[in-house]
Order: sequence, then structure tokens, then C-alpha cells
Amino acid sequence: MFTPDILLPGPTPVPVAIQQAMLTPMSDHRGSAFTPVLERVRHRLATLFEVGPSGGIAVLPASGTGALEATVQNFFQKGDAVLSVSTGAFGNRFRDVAQAHGLVVDPYTVPWGQAFDPAPVVSRIRQHQYRGILLTHNETSTGVINPIERLTAQMVSIPPAYRPLIVVDSISGVPAIPLPMQTWGVDVALAASQKGFMCPPGLALIAASGNGLKHLQQDRPHRFYFDLGPYFEDKLPYTPATSLIYGLDKSLELLAAEGSARRYQRHRLLGQMTRSFGHAVGWNPFVEEIVASPTVTSLGVPAGSSPTRVRARIAALGLQVAGGMGPWHDTAIRIGHVGAITPATLFAGLSIVAHVTPHPSRGLEAAWQVWHEDLDKEEPYDA
Ligand SMILES: *Cc1c(COP(=O)(O)O)cnc(C)c1O
Repeated sequence: MFTPDILLPGPTPVPVAIQQAMLTPMSDHRGSAFTPVLERVRHRLATLFEVGPSGGIAVLPASGTGALEATVQNFFQKGDAVLSVSTGAFGNRFRDVAQAHGLVVDPYTVPWGQAFDPAPVVSRIRQHQYRGILLTHNETSTGVINPIERLTAQMVSIPPAYRPLIVVDSISGVPAIPLPMQTWGVDVALAASQKGFMCPPGLALIAASGNGLKHLQQDRPHRFYFDLGPYFEDKLPYTPATSLIYGLDKSLELLAAEGSARRYQRHRLLGQMTRSFGHAVGWNPFVEEIVASPTVTSLGVPAGSSPTRVRARIAALGLQVAGGMGPWHDTAIRIGHVGAITPATLFAGLSIVAHVTPHPSRGLEAAWQVWHEDLDKEEPYDA
């Protein structure tokens, strides 16, 4: 009768204001109604990613994986040596995309549930001549946030001529988790519409710094629709996904109204509430607190119960949560808390999850307590 509530790491709930913006009637996508909208979207994205004065933004019709593929195709050539640092399923996907396009990939794989350690990564970079390094900001399959800033800080000591292009898949990170590209020295960052941007799936966002754009390959054979040159130059090569872009325009307005500091704090709080809930009901979070993601949490279900059955029972009560991935498929569920989720909507979702746990009231008390203590630190969230 009702559409299900969702606590997923994508797609995420779409606010009514964004749904309404997507109903804007069609017009010439090179005409006076749409042109300023796309300009504003690209300008706001450049600010949000902090690409710097000579950086640029490409908005493509694709899901996030399209951004991974277009990045590999446009910033590298077949035969280029790259270091892939993988902390889970999405790091593996980035590696696989690079391999599929003929890059010579040195795979550096971190055990499931851990973040990478910058020191061994930097020492590999010093020993090899990589053209690029492929990183995941927030590993959605495990619920781990990686230390991008500590890595880039250590890479400053490498002479610029030997410094590889730093490419970060931040699809479940930006805009919920900070990735100030210019300050941190990130060259290319990727995002998608259906996670923190609170839009439906369908837009891939690629942000490049001035240095990143210098590495955009000029000779780009085997690329046509996903040749990023025209997209970065604002040339609108083909019909854009206009309705989604109207939605993204509204999203960027809502994100700016909340402000980045409050948004980052809200997502940290949502992660803390979810982990406290998990500890209190005996569904322990699978990753260490120090690397725990603000946007998605893996909770272990007790031995003997199946995550698939647990998720089906939760779904029957009106809430969809995600399954564990990879080696955690049979032991964990994932709760997404990214995008248009407030502490109150998370709490309502957890009150559904609580029904299938052994200690429902303990779990809810713990989550509520974390929320309550946060009220003393922060201004309350405006409705
Ligand atoms: C969601 C996600 C992707 C892309 O997935 P799509 O289904 O293609 O949108 C890539 N990387 C990460 C880290 C993600 O969270």
C-alpha cells in the first residue's frame, strides 16, 4: 500500500522539492530556460568539490560506474601503469575497469573491513613510476572511510614530475563527507546523483583540478559519447538528462542552505547513532570506530540467522536496508544513512530494525542517547 522507507547506501530518498524541480517542462537544452540551469549546476559543483580556479566539472548521463569508466578512458592511455588501492568491492570495481581498458594495474588490496594505510602506499609510489593512483574515498561495501587527506599530505614530498594523478571515487562520500580537492591535492574526484545528492540515479559527476585537466588525454581513440573533452568545456555535445539536472540544481540549493559543516556533522551523527544501536542490540558494527563511515554501516547479524531473512522481515515491516557484500554477504546487513536522512528519520528506521533484534529498547535508547547528546553541541536541525 505504501512505498517502502529506505535506509540504503543508494538510491536514497528524494526530497519533494527535488521531485518537483524534476517536473519542470522540457525546453530546448541549448535555449534560454535550461542553459543558465546547467551553468549554475556546474558552477555550484565546482565550489562544492573545491576544484580551484582552473578546475572543471563534467556532468554525464550515467550511474556512478560510468564515471569510473569515463575517468579511466579519458585520463589514461592503454598501457599506463596505475596503482589501484582497493579496500572492498568498489575499489575492486575501479581496478577491474582499469584492467578492462588495458591499463597496467598494480593491485594493492587491503583486507576487507580495513582502511588503507598511507605509508605503504606512498612507499610503493616512490618505488614505481605510476601515471595514476586509483582510490576509494568511502568504501560502500564495508562502511569504511579511507584517509585520503593523510595520503595526499605525504605525497607532497614526491617531486611533481614523479607524482601520479590522484583519482578518488567519492561516489558515497561527496557531498556527505568532505573532499576539498584543492586543499588536499586531489586531481580527479567522482560522484553520482543517487547518494548524498538526494537525486534519482542517472547522473555521473566528474570533478577535475587544473592539474587533473592537464592530464586529460588529447588523443582519445575509442571514445565518443564518453569523450570528456566537450563536457568539461561546457559544449553540451548531446542531449543532457535535463530533468535530472533540474533535480540536481535544486539539490545543490538545498545542500548550500544546510551548509557543509552541518551536513558533515549530521552524517557523522547518523553513523554514530547506527553504530550505538548495533552495539546495544548485539549486532556489532563490523569495522573499527576509527575508520567507520558516516554514510553506511555494516552490522553483523547473530550467528545462525541469515541476513537475507533478516532483511526480508525488516522489509515486511516497511523498510528496505542493504545486504552485506563480498565475504560479509552471509553475516552482515548494511544500513545506509546518506542524503536526505535526519536523525529523526534514521531513528524511525531503526525502530523498525529493532523489532527483529533481541534487545529492541536497548538499541533505541542507545541511538536516542547519541542523538540527544548531540543536541547540546549543535544547533537543532531545521525542518
Ligand atoms: C554506488 C557506488 C559506485 C557506483 O555504483 P553505480 O551503481 O554504478 O551508481 C561506485 N563506487 C562507490 C564507492 C559507490 O558507493
